[in-house]
Amino acid sequence: MPVTAGVEDARTRAHGEDADDVLRRQDPEIADVLAGEARRQSDSLQLIAAENFVSPAVLAALGSPLANKYAEGYPGRRHHGGCEYADAAERLAVERARTLFGAEHANVQAHSGSSAVLAAYAALLRPGDTVLAMGLAHGGHLTHGSPANFSGRWFTFVPYGVDAESGLIDYAQVRDLAHQHRPKAIVCGSISYPRHIDYAEFREIADEVGAALIADAAHPIGLVAGGAAPSPVPHADVVCATTHKVLRGPRGGMILCGQELAERIDRAVFPFTQGGAQMHTIAAKAVAFGEAATPVFHAYAHRVVANARVLAEALGRHGFTITTGGTDTHLITADPGPHSVDGRTARARLAAAGMVLDTCALPYGDGRGIRFGTAAVTTQGMGAPEMERIAVLFAAAVRGEDEARAVRAEVRELAERFPPYRG
Ligand SMILES: *Cc1c(COP(=O)(O)O)cnc(C)c1O
Repeated sequence: MPVTAGVEDARTRAHGEDADDVLRRQDPEIADVLAGEARRQSDSLQLIAAENFVSPAVLAALGSPLANKYAEGYPGRRHHGGCEYADAAERLAVERARTLFGAEHANVQAHSGSSAVLAAYAALLRPGDTVLAMGLAHGGHLTHGSPANFSGRWFTFVPYGVDAESGLIDYAQVRDLAHQHRPKAIVCGSISYPRHIDYAEFREIADEVGAALIADAAHPIGLVAGGAAPSPVPHADVVCATTHKVLRGPRGGMILCGQELAERIDRAVFPFTQGGAQMHTIAAKAVAFGEAATPVFHAYAHRVVANARVLAEALGRHGFTITTGGTDTHLITADPGPHSVDGRTARARLAAAGMVLDTCALPYGDGRGIRFGTAAVTTQGMGAPEMERIAVLFAAAVRGEDEARAVRAEVRELAERFPPYRG
């Protein structure tokens, strides 16, 4: 499809035409893709624990001309001209993050959760240093020592795990390993741990062996913002997070720390591991932090947890083995084994029925489990009755009954009663 250049292109809007119309007129191929994705998000159930629906205000900031701006450096110390509005956006984002989390310093430039962890390691460690983190099979993230990731290549990771019986972090093992290996840093945080982490206990262990404590709170940070989970900020030297999970902001990362590490963290992000900041994303982060500071978000965060508890309990009744017997957060992991399927088959059957989620490692099981969360469906306005309904649909889909088409139709009907975006 030919794209006309200069003043002839679609940056001249016809009267009454909105941004969607402009895109469709210029590039119908991509317009179809975006429309298809919007439809997919609204006629199926988004149960991926790390996903959510950002507000129209966050989307507006993401689609703004700040996307055009180069702004290497930090507010007031940029390597480019014309940064007065970029500076204002970043100052607002930093101030709002500091206030929201009670942190002395916030860096909002990290492009992602992984970039935030990379910067934390760059600030605190040297290649070859020993780091104690949750093992990948027990819920650690790729950045916690996977051989496929920079972390496993550049540092010596010692893994800790969860107890075989309870599924809870084995703090006695963490302490033993810390004393045995004297790590330079201890990482607490997980992609699948459904319970609150005892940050004070981790702090004590880190102090006993002179290690730095890095909390990778990518998942629970939104619950922390809403007062529905304990905060790692008073305990950890550095808190790494994402802004796009329960926190409901744009895709991106964030780092919180005390004043004494502020300079090192900032330099570890730029210029050590990143170039120009994504200013449209930073503006969108500021919008999300503003939203997260409201009573409405406080109520949302608590509803996310209440929904997860109802869903976990209902799925337990429907024959799923719920890891740790329940959840404190938005996140649930389960073994579908009692239904005679493993996580991969369960995920495929659930996807065919319009329920989208992930598989996960089961540290002591044979196959894989399933991992899901309630952040997105709660944003849609669903509550306890819908969680009960989802559990019924879940079980029917996983059993692979002949009524698969009926399940898909019911999922569509449920999803469409709670549109993520109106109008
Ligand atoms: C999601 C997550 C990350 C990575 O975030 P990305 O934005 O995907 O890079 C890192 N650590 C933990 C514990 C996570 O849950």
